[in-house]
Amino acid sequence: MSYDYLVVGSGLFGSTFAYEAAKRGKRVKVIDKRDHIGGNIYTENIEGINVHKYGAHIFHTNNKEIWDYVNQFAEFNRYTNSPVANYKGQIYNLPFNMNTFNKLWGVITPEEAKNKIEAQRKAINIEKPKNLEEQAISLVGTDIYEKLIKGYTEKQWGRKATELPSFIIKRLPVRFTYDNNYFNDRYQGIPIGGYTQIIEKMLSSELIDVELNRDFFSNREEYIESYPRIVYTGMIDQFFDYKYGELEYRSLQFESSLLDQENYQGNAVVNYTDAETPFTRIIEHKHFEFGNQPKTLITKEFPKTWKKGDEPYYPVNDDNNSEKFRKYRKLAEEQPNVIFGGRLGMYQYYDMHQVIAAALSLAKKELS
Ligand code: FAD
Repeated sequence: MSYDYLVVGSGLFGSTFAYEAAKRGKRVKVIDKRDHIGGNIYTENIEGINVHKYGAHIFHTNNKEIWDYVNQFAEFNRYTNSPVANYKGQIYNLPFNMNTFNKLWGVITPEEAKNKIEAQRKAINIEKPKNLEEQAISLVGTDIYEKLIKGYTEKQWGRKATELPSFIIKRLPVRFTYDNNYFNDRYQGIPIGGYTQIIEKMLSSELIDVELNRDFFSNREEYIESYPRIVYTGMIDQFFDYKYGELEYRSLQFESSLLDQENYQGNAVVNYTDAETPFTRIIEHKHFEFGNQPKTLITKEFPKTWKKGDEPYYPVNDDNNSEKFRKYRKLAEEQPNVIFGGRLGMYQYYDMHQVIAAALSLAKKELS
């Protein structure tokens, strides 16, 4: 069987490209080293609950074209992301908004809240923030910083806020309305029945063959020789044998438990913002789809430093890694017949809507 494309990785990027290629009559082989399709958006059904195996995924976008595109593959519900923070047993609404300020200080009006934040910023009087702590305080004052930012951020990055660069927090969303909707985007939701069906439908063409448990690197020379074009969505540094060194990531460890109770925390996402609790969040998956199953499945997220063999989740885009990536990118541009894409191929944090947009843009360029 001869193919026009080999797509390495059946995540959202690779699958969107494969779908578009097959639509234009191309034959595509998709391989993935995991034992399932879907990459990080894979959801697995346990006790009737769609479990987001690689972390909570909420689809949101302002782009109507992308929203219509993804809605071809699944019907989306009306889920609105409204996480809450648990700080030492006290619950606060996120993102920071009038509900949060009322709970923190008892203020009622936006003006009272603004005055409170302004007074705290003035009292500290930071002109040029030298680190993340100073940056955050200069944006939202000490109370919000101490209770809702400090512990969470330190756990996430594994370093003290005073040792983290200020650029990590450029802006902090502060809203002076009683609105707990985390995203400002126009369209938002969760596919009813989970994300995996989207990928299944994308890969369902008879022009697409999928092979799981296939690592590109176990057969790399043969793949490169036998396929005219390759779309590679794995790690870019690995493709070049880490020639310039490893690109760094932050990773996560997930600990899931199936509980014999209907409702554990009353919300899909609860952030633990103190420094002592070792995890950053608990996800209760059924609430993404308003489930009323008799049991519930929760997942604790523990941030950790990435090392080879761990799942690479969040790229660390500091100067050192950005410089390394630029070098890899140059090699990638010189590599004949291999196109690098997706979050690992581009060493970039992409939301799902951005991944679809990037894959569609590649398809347009490559296939027209
Ligand atoms: P991936 O999904 O990682 O797919 C890459 C695939 O390539 C994988 O299946 C992998 O197994 C395979 N692969 C890699 N190397 C090889 C190899 N050598 N051989 C064969 N196969 C290989 N986005 C949102 O819009 N909303 C959210 O709420 C959201 N939450 C997130 C939460 C977390 C914890 C994380 C990490 C990401 C989140 N995202 C969210 C982003 C979303 O996961 C990505 O946009 C999307 O999954 C990226 O798709 P991809 O195809 O680029 O990469």
